[in-house]
Amino acid sequence: MGAAPAVVLLSGGLDSATVLAIAREEGFATHALSFDYGQRHDRELDSARRVAQALGAARHLVLRLDLRAIGGSALTADIPVPQGRTVEAMGAGIPVTYVPARNTIFLSHAMAWAEVLECQDIFIGVNALDYSGYPDCRLEFIEAFERLGNLATRAGVEGRTRLRIHAPLIRLTKAEIIARGAALGVDYGLTWSCYAPRPDGLACGRCDSCLLRAKGFREADLCDPVPSAP
Ligand SMILES: [Zn+2]
Repeated sequence: MGAAPAVVLLSGGLDSATVLAIAREEGFATHALSFDYGQRHDRELDSARRVAQALGAARHLVLRLDLRAIGGSALTADIPVPQGRTVEAMGAGIPVTYVPARNTIFLSHAMAWAEVLECQDIFIGVNALDYSGYPDCRLEFIEAFERLGNLATRAGVEGRTRLRIHAPLIRLTKAEIIARGAALGVDYGLTWSCYAPRPDGLACGRCDSCLLRAKGFREADLCDPVPSAP
């Protein structure tokens, strides 16, 4: 018998790349799932493709899903991405980069694919420490979704499979995530975090995502291979 399949949500960012490496390390045949959802930083999809290939995903599916038609986020509507905020400011309240119900939407698709693959394991790179502002990045949310998955699917109701949602980064700091991934051979040069890339293609260096990434590399005492604007 081959390795058991796992569906891994892959955005092309640093966290999900690390999760893909962790799922592989745990012996799963990884099935990476990305979304072309109308995000303003579509560059991350190129990163997702390269990360999936580099980390030996058995398959990589990119689903098209137009969340821009819904809007309501700085990532899917013409709302400015906040720049130059302190970590304290980021932690206070839910930022405008929150995409309404995004992780619920993504996990629902992952669950559907998992059911077809007869797969019990879904991996997601949510992190409650360095982005406490997002309600769908909390452990309670993940646990509730796991319960939902076992009620909502034929595979769950017939008792053939028991769905598990793995969130291996949930209690890690960004620095711990980077150290873990580096140890597993993740090439962070393939990943993309910036919410607002500049016209010249460089990461802006000032959005929340860039600032958290920079802080993570600094605290992990490693160099970020992706250059950003000074
Ligand atoms: Zn940025």
